[in-house]
Amino acid sequence: MENAKKILDEQFDELVCSLQNVIRFNTEKSDPAPNAPFGTNVKQCLDYVLNWAKSFGFATYDCDGYAGHADFAGTGKEVLGILGHLDVVPAKQEEWRYPPYSAEIHDGKLFGRGAMDDKGPMIACLYATKALKEAGFVPSKTVRLIFGCDEESGMQCVEHYFSQMPYPTVAFSPDGDFPVINREKGIYQFDVVCGKLPHGVKITAGDRANVVPSLCTVTTVEPLTLKSPKVACEKTSDGYIYTATGKAAHGSTPDEGVNATHVLIELLDDIYRDNETLRFLEHSVRDTTGKKWGIALCDKESGSLTCNLGVLRTSDDGTLTATIDIRFPVTYNCKQIYELLRANTPKQFAIVERHVSEPLHVPSDSNLVTTLMDVYNSQMHTNLQPLAIGGGTYSRCLPNCVAFGPLFPHEEQTIHMPNELIMLKNLRAMAQLYLEAIYRLAK
Ligand SMILES: [Zn+2]
Repeated sequence: MENAKKILDEQFDELVCSLQNVIRFNTEKSDPAPNAPFGTNVKQCLDYVLNWAKSFGFATYDCDGYAGHADFAGTGKEVLGILGHLDVVPAKQEEWRYPPYSAEIHDGKLFGRGAMDDKGPMIACLYATKALKEAGFVPSKTVRLIFGCDEESGMQCVEHYFSQMPYPTVAFSPDGDFPVINREKGIYQFDVVCGKLPHGVKITAGDRANVVPSLCTVTTVEPLTLKSPKVACEKTSDGYIYTATGKAAHGSTPDEGVNATHVLIELLDDIYRDNETLRFLEHSVRDTTGKKWGIALCDKESGSLTCNLGVLRTSDDGTLTATIDIRFPVTYNCKQIYELLRANTPKQFAIVERHVSEPLHVPSDSNLVTTLMDVYNSQMHTNLQPLAIGGGTYSRCLPNCVAFGPLFPHEEQTIHMPNELIMLKNLRAMAQLYLEAIYRLAK
C-alpha cells in the first residue's frame, strides 16, 4: 500500500487537471434528451468520466444515463461501493469571484461548482483506485465507483440504478463529513390539513418543509391589536397585513433559526381563544422539540427529535394547511412516527405524508465504521468519534453505507454556496484517506 500512496502522490497534478476538466462540464439539471434523463451536459460529463476510467483499465457501465459505474474487479463476489454524484446545484455567475465552471486555481484553492460536492472527492476516489491498481493490489472485493447524475434534484438516479444493479455488500459515500457519519435521523415531512381560521384571517409563511421560514404574514379585514415590537403592520385597500420576520435555517436544525410563524401564532391564539386550528398550532406545533405535541422522542444513538413548521397556507375557504418536517432518532421508524402524530393530533385534521425516509444507522462497532474511523484517526492523528446528524446524505439510499468525507472538521463549508472551493492540500489528504479506506475494505 505504501507504493500505491507514492503513486497517488506523484499523480496528484494529473488528478487536479482531471478534476478541472470534470468541473468544466456545467452539470446543472436541464431538459431530458434521449439517454440523457437529466440533460445532455450531465450525460457528457458521465461519458467523460466513464471513458477516463476505462482508459485506466476499469470496466464501465452506463445505466441509461441515470448513473454509471467503474469497476476495479476483485477476486471474490463481494462489492465495495463508493457512491457519489456528478450533478451540481445551480450557480449564479454574478455571485462568484471566478466563473463557476472555469475551475480556476488561486492560492492553493480550486474554485468551481462541484469542487467539493461531489466531483472533487469522486475524482480523488477514482485516482486512489487507479493508484492501487498500478501498485499491483489485487482486491478480494470488486471496487465499484458509482457516479449518480441526479443527487441534487430528486435522486431518481440511484432509484433507477439500483432497480437494475444489486446493492454493494458494503459502501461509503464521499458526500458528507469526515470522519464518518453513521447515523442520520429519519425524515418525516407531511401536511396537517387543519380546520378553518377565524373569518377574514389568512396566514402565509415559507416555501419548503425543510427550511425555517424567515417571513410570516397575516392578512385580516379588521385591525387587530397585536402588541409586539416583532410585528409590523401595514394598512391596505382590503384590510391589514401583519408581518413577522425571523431567521432562516435548515429544517433539520430548527433551533439555529428563528421561526417567523411562532410569534404570530402566539398572538393570534391570544385573540381568537376558541379557534381550534390556532389552538392546535399554538399548543402542539409551536415547539421545535415536539414536546408540546407529545412526540418528543430521544435515543442515545442520535439525540432528540426536531420539529420544523416550514410552510403555512390558507385556502380561499379559510382552511389552514401546515407543512412540517420532523427529524426523528435512528431507533424509531416512520410508521411509529405516523402513529404517534395521529394519536396526538385532533382527529378531524388530516395528516398527509409528503416525503419520508427511514433513518440510517450503521452501528459504531461495525467493521465498516471502525475501519473508516481507524483510517481517519491514524492518518490525521486525531481521536474523533463517528457523527450523528439530522440531515440526509446520499448514503441513506442504500443499506450498509456511511458518509466518509469530504468536509474536514472545522473546515469552512462552501457547498451549495457561491465560490464553492476545494483546498488542494485537503484534496491531497482526502485522496490518501480514500486510498487507504479502499485498500482496507476491499483487500
Ligand atoms: Zn452532494
